[in-house]
Formats: sequence, structure tokens, C-alpha cells
Amino acid sequence: MIPVMRPWLGEEEVAAAAATIRSGWVAQGPRVAEFEERLAAHVGNTAGVAVSSCTTGLHLVLHALGIGPGDEVVVPSLSFIATANAPRYVGATPVFADVDLVTQNLTAATIDAVATERTAAVIAVHQVGMPLDLDEIRRYCAGRGIRIIEDAACASGSVYRDSMVGAGPDPVVFSFHPRKLLTTGEGGMIITADTELATRLRTLRQHAMSVSALDRHAARATDFEEYPELGFNFRMTDMQAAVGIVQLDKLDAMVERRRVLAALYGEALGPIPGLRVPVDPPYGRTNFQSYTLVVEDAFPVSRNGLMEKLHEAGVATRRGVMAAHREPTFDDHDAAPLPNTEWLADRAMIMPMYHSMTESDLGMVVDRIGRVADGE
Ligand SMILES: *Cc1c(COP(=O)(O)O)cnc(C)c1O
Repeated sequence: MIPVMRPWLGEEEVAAAAATIRSGWVAQGPRVAEFEERLAAHVGNTAGVAVSSCTTGLHLVLHALGIGPGDEVVVPSLSFIATANAPRYVGATPVFADVDLVTQNLTAATIDAVATERTAAVIAVHQVGMPLDLDEIRRYCAGRGIRIIEDAACASGSVYRDSMVGAGPDPVVFSFHPRKLLTTGEGGMIITADTELATRLRTLRQHAMSVSALDRHAARATDFEEYPELGFNFRMTDMQAAVGIVQLDKLDAMVERRRVLAALYGEALGPIPGLRVPVDPPYGRTNFQSYTLVVEDAFPVSRNGLMEKLHEAGVATRRGVMAAHREPTFDDHDAAPLPNTEWLADRAMIMPMYHSMTESDLGMVVDRIGRVADGE
């Protein structure tokens, strides 16, 4: 079976995790601090704050920005469920906005269609690694007191204009789940240009204690910590960070390989009537975290029909990005009409793409699709 995704892990990651265990320091410590510095430098920003996942990172940022009950947070419905759940953790209300049909991302216009006086923030998702047009969203939000939080869960290694995604002035949250590119098993990181915010996030992620475990290690025996407010345990372990440091060195190669595979998919599938392939937006470069094929009505079989035919041929695929507003957990949330979101959720599918995928694996997949297109 050709899988949809397979992380690129090797003996270097094994050795890094083993060395951390041998060192005796396994919880958040020196490896986490190093990983934070390395990722912040890689994206070209000031500070990194490692957390246990992108989901807890989004939760922590919303909490630190003081967003809570009575506030509305605009999110795309077309995203993994965690994006829309994050505002609920702080008692705020997620408000679903539609997306652009080509980039599958929010735009200033789709945000404007649902914004109200209570809109406190927008979670701007770089969906499946496709950068969204931040400048127009920043312009829209700037005069209205609306905060932007970038959900870059899938976007490690993507480029927006002349910078890496993560270089911007607003908090950005990455995921290191194996379904993304760079993986630590589970894990996430908040990147921020605001050193005060970084300090606050570091405190909040470790029970809001006034002295971290690492600092206490070096402190006097009677320097007791304090807990001035409600905090969380959203820490990453040093074992995870050690793996992340090795993975970060491979990130450029991961993106490069995915872009080669994407070009091959595009050449083979782009010309087939009824299929739409993803392309870079004019203002950036995607990492192709997922290769999303849209099966339009002109194709001889439906998206589900094509998924079944590929499954029979030993090729795994997944539906495209979900529409959160259709899930039972959001039954009590009103949603404005989201025609593009629903159109895409019904027609998009995710193709196999992983670092070790060969040209012949890919050839087999596109050959099978070609035969379905010919009515076979
Ligand atoms: C995967 C994903 C998340 C959640 O990331 P975790 O690290 O698994 O919590 C959030 N947002 C988007 C857009 C995602 O794709």
C-alpha cells in the first residue's frame, strides 16, 4: 500500500533521543532551549516557545493575549478541528469565515463578511502549508484592534514574500505532529517577535511558576518558586526537542523533495479535465505539506469514487481539509453560508506524498488516475 504520509526519521533522531535519555535530563531543559533558538533563527524571528502541541500553543497564545468570554475569534471552518476549538478553551466564540477557492485560505474579504464589533482576533491558517496573504489581512486588522495569530501548524518551511512563514510580527504557532513535515512525535512551537510575550508564554506553559526547573537547578536551596496565577502544563520534553533539532536540519531537504514530487504530480494531473492541482500563490511558496487534488464535477467520477478506485489499487488517500462547522461539536454555533468551504470539503482529496516516495510510486498513482479519467 502506498501511504499518504510517512515521517522521514532515521538513526540520527534515534541517537539524539538516546543521548538525551543517557544525560538524565528528559523533561524540558537544555535541548528545548536549543530547539527554540534554532527554530526562531531558522524562520528569522526573535523568540521560540516550545509547547506540547500546536493546539496547546494556540490555546496559550489566546490566553496570554487576554482573549476570553464575550470575544469573537474569526477562524476558517476549512481547517483541522483544533483551529476552531482553540477559542473555546478560553471561553471565546469561534466565528467561521469562508475561504478562497484557489488558496483554500482566509482573505480580508472573507474575514470582513463575518467580523463584528466583538471580533478580538483572527486565527490565520496557512492551510496545508499554502501561505495565506498576510499583508492584506494585517491591513484589515490593524485599524480595527483585531489581533492576528498565525496557525502555521502545517507550514514549516513555507515562504511568504521574501521571508519564511514565522517571520512576521504576530504570534505564529507550528505543529510537529508526524502528519506535518518536521516532527517530534507530538509538539509545537510559538514564534514571536515580542520578547515580553515570550516570557509570559514561558511562565504560563509551566504552571505559571516564577522559577523554571532549569533555573531552580542553578539556584540556591532556599529560592522557592511562587504561583501568582493559573497556569498550564504545556511543556515539550527534551527527548522531543532533541529529535526536533535533528529534524530541523533536514527541513530544507524535505521541502525540496516535496516540491519535486509536486511538480511531477502537476505535470501529470494538471492537464486532465476536471482535476485541479495546487500551485504556489503569486506572493509565496508552499511546502506541499499535503498535495490537495480537487475533483471537479467535470471529472468522470466523484472525489469519493476516485478515492475508492485508488484504494482498490493499493493507494491510500484522505479526504481534503475538513469543514469544522459541519461537525456535531459545533451544532450550537451559527455559521454564515460558507459556499467555498463546503464545495472544497466535498471535492478535495489528499494524495500520497512523503520524503521516500519514489518516481515510480508516483508514476503508478498518476497512471491509475489517468485510466480513471479515460473511463476505465
Ligand atoms: C495539525 C493541525 C493543528 C493541530 O496540531 P497539533 O500539533 O496536532 O495540536 C492545528 N491547526 C492545523 C491547521 C493543523 O493542520
